[in-house]
Amino acid sequence: MDRAFTHRFNTGDGTVDSICHRCFHTVAIASRESDLQTLEQKHVCDPEDKLRFELIAEAAKLHYLEQAS
Ligand SMILES: [Zn+2]
Repeated sequence: MDRAFTHRFNTGDGTVDSICHRCFHTVAIASRESDLQTLEQKHVCDPEDKLRFELIAEAAKLHYLEQAS
């Protein structure tokens, strides 16, 4: 399974968030980006969240196509 994460750097407190591309949950927060990989490897997407975001993405795509035509 292809899994990827976006890292968001928080300038306020210097922490780094890891956000899952599939379920959009913040899966880990660490003070160093290098600490995120171990935490990311342990993440398992909630199937209900994943399905919900896939349905939202499909609805947004259909809405975009309607607006473009
Ligand atoms: Zn996930």
